[in-house]
Parts: sequence; structure tokens; C-alpha cells
Amino acid sequence: MTSRRDELAAGLDRVRGRIDRACREVGRVPEEVTLVVVTKFFPASDVRLLAQLGVTDVGENRHQEAEAKARECADLDLSWHFIGGLQSNKAAAVAAYADVVESVDRPKLLGPLARGAGERELRVLLQVSLDPPGAVHRAGVDPAGLSTLAAAVGDHPRLELAGLMAVAPLGEDPADAFARLAQVRHAFLTDHPSATVLSAGMSGDLEQAVAHGATHVRVGSAILGPRPVIL
Ligand SMILES: *Cc1c(COP(=O)(O)O)cnc(C)c1O
Repeated sequence: MTSRRDELAAGLDRVRGRIDRACREVGRVPEEVTLVVVTKFFPASDVRLLAQLGVTDVGENRHQEAEAKARECADLDLSWHFIGGLQSNKAAAVAAYADVVESVDRPKLLGPLARGAGERELRVLLQVSLDPPGAVHRAGVDPAGLSTLAAAVGDHPRLELAGLMAVAPLGEDPADAFARLAQVRHAFLTDHPSATVLSAGMSGDLEQAVAHGATHVRVGSAILGPRPVIL
């Protein structure tokens, strides 16, 4: 019988192999890509096993679940990435345990995030919407609004503008979406040369994201298995 640890180790091996191959195909080195394992819906015991297996970064998208898990795993040397939609009334609480907030998409979040970070430095990524104009809006700031939002981050000394995050829209070839993202990022780096993080790519499209410059991929189900369906 395979243990959960064996399952997770096998999933990690597969995904690390995919990242290695994706890098090699485009002349990048795997060290340039950080694997953020998305542990949402899975228990703290899985986070613990992943840490034992060498995982350094975990991602969560729901505040209450993330807060509880971060507390249970406080003894582990992990970076916690908050990757979900963020309500401004929860932002300060998220900043208290998150090391990186990847889903910053409006200025209203910045004050509470800075307050919640307290004396710590909090890294933030601006989530860019890759939806074509006129699509039903999902999360993220429109590329046209990016520089205003980035400037607003500069008003908060505790917030470090680390880069950009995006999710490929459903119903479009992710390679096309990530090609657009690479252009947006190229322009963004001209004004913010130290904001080099690009978080893009999930279980289904990490290869395309790596090909377009992702420095961080956020992978859940390809490592942990299918998430329970929530009705
Ligand atoms: C859930 C989630 C992921 C991981 O998705 P998988 O398809 O399970 O790899 C990545 N990014 C965000 C923003 C998510 O919410």
C-alpha cells in the first residue's frame, strides 16, 4: 500500500520533472522556477509531509483555512503565499501570516495589508487580468491599471512590490494568454526593474507559463490529487 507520503513524493517528482523539461526546452535553468505547492482543501498533515519532501513554498486561497493551517505549521520553515480573491476586511488578517500576497488587484487592499504586516516586510504581487476585453470579469487588474496600482504600493514602506501574478483565462490557449502576460511584464519591468517575480502556470499549463518567463508556478492537483468537489 502506498502511503500519503509516497503519493506526494511521486507527485512532486512528476511536477519537478515537468518543470525541468519545460525549462530545458526554452533554454532556462530549473533553478529559475520556484514551485509553490497549492495546498488548499488539503490538511495541514499534507503540508507537513510536503515540507519534509523539500517543499519551501505553499499557496492557499481561502483566508480561514490558510490561517488555521499556517498556525498548525508554524514550526515549519515555509513561505506562505496567499493566492485567492481578497476582501479588504480580511486583508490585514492575511498579512499577519502570509509571506507573499499574490492576489493584489486594487489599491483598497494596500492599507490593510500594510497594517497587518506590522513590523514585517510583506511581498506583494499584482494580479493581472488576462481576460480579453469584454469578457466576464474574473480576478485581476486590467493591464492598463497596473502602473497606478504599482505606484500605490510605493506609498507603503512595509510592502515590497515583488512582481506580477496571473491565471490563464478559461477557453483560451494558455500559451496565447501567457504570451500577452510576457509583454505586459516586459513593459512593467522597465518601470519596476526589481519586481522580477512572475507567478503563472498551474497543473494544466505550467509548461506554457515557463516558456513565457514564469519564475513561480502554482501547482495543486498534479501533486496532491483532485480536490474534493464543493457544491
Ligand atoms: C487552485 C489554484 C491553483 C492550483 O491549481 P491546480 O490546477 O490544482 O494546479 C493555482 N493558482 C490559483 C490562483 C489557484 O486558485
